[in-house]
Amino acid sequence: MKVRAAVLYEAGRAFQIETLDLAPPRAGEVLVKVAAAGVCHSDYHLVTGATKHPMPVVPGHEGAGIVEAAGEGVTRVKTGDHVALNWAPNCGECFYCLRDRPSLCTTFIGPVWQGTMMDGTTRFSKEGDPVYHFSALACFAERVVVPEECCVPLDKAVPFDVAALIGCAVTTGVGSVLNTARLAPGSSVAVFGAGGVGLSIIMGAKLAGAGQIIAIDTNESKSDLALEFGATNVLINSPDVVKDIQRLTGGRGADYVFEAIGLPAVQEQCLEAARPGGTVVLAGLSPMGSDTNLPGSIITRQEKTVTGSYYGTANTARDFPLYADLYLQGKLDLGRLISRSYTLEQINEAYADMLSGEIARGVIVWE
Ligand SMILES: [Zn+2]
Ligand SMILES: [Zn+2]
Repeated sequence: MKVRAAVLYEAGRAFQIETLDLAPPRAGEVLVKVAAAGVCHSDYHLVTGATKHPMPVVPGHEGAGIVEAAGEGVTRVKTGDHVALNWAPNCGECFYCLRDRPSLCTTFIGPVWQGTMMDGTTRFSKEGDPVYHFSALACFAERVVVPEECCVPLDKAVPFDVAALIGCAVTTGVGSVLNTARLAPGSSVAVFGAGGVGLSIIMGAKLAGAGQIIAIDTNESKSDLALEFGATNVLINSPDVVKDIQRLTGGRGADYVFEAIGLPAVQEQCLEAARPGGTVVLAGLSPMGSDTNLPGSIITRQEKTVTGSYYGTANTARDFPLYADLYLQGKLDLGRLISRSYTLEQINEAYADMLSGEIARGVIVWE
């Protein structure tokens, strides 16, 4: 079938809207009519070249839609299901899955980073040449074929734009609080970065019963947003911001400090902003190959813990429906994350808005 999709031909170029051929799902695969796809920074890493990937590629890894067809042997979903898409499919059987760390599953890493389905081939093509799938999802397209492991059925009461954000920003942010940090009630929290992930961390911290929640961003327009989501204090990042955080936390620093951007210099600020015995959670994806200077002398003497959080240490089959339920109960205000909706044709504008730092999250929607 023919589908409209946003294609990136090489780093440094704009997204191009194209009509591609989409082959039907093979065994273990599912055809999904995409209804919403979030505009996440990780796709933009393909544009800057910070993430290397076979090209041309259809980006998009934060999506939701309706199952239209299932290939042979598919058991997890059926036609008509509403699904949020998981960009880190897990097998349930490998070393990490068996230790309840499915976000570290190794089974599908090879084909996912080759931009193909699990059999090493693409379902997208243009005039017979392969067009690659980003993160096994490629959801900047009106229809996609994905491995069934990427599909998590959700309650049909959840709007598609909210379901899409559960697929990346919300799970990354809320999960870093609930799963990675296992935040204790009453804790003081500092969050660097108030985009989709950072605001989700603020929501997660509030849900977990945090005391103080200090949001730090470079963009003044994020301050009001952060307060709406539950921040108790907002600070504009500056070389003095660590002192400000210490001042707000009895001179000690925060119990938990979250980095939601992926910038080495900010990761270093996070270590300083954590109190002795405190925990730094690195949740933002830094460019591949980038380095951080986190001094061991301080980590040891002040017993600070530094931990990574990849995809919110999620078990997506467990966590996507949990976050959807919390949304339906009014305990996670996920609708508020969506600042603007765009058509697929407006994708370059959507990324320009994201880079301006003015909006929480943009979402591409289809009718
Ligand atoms: Zn993302
Ligand atoms: Zn696994």
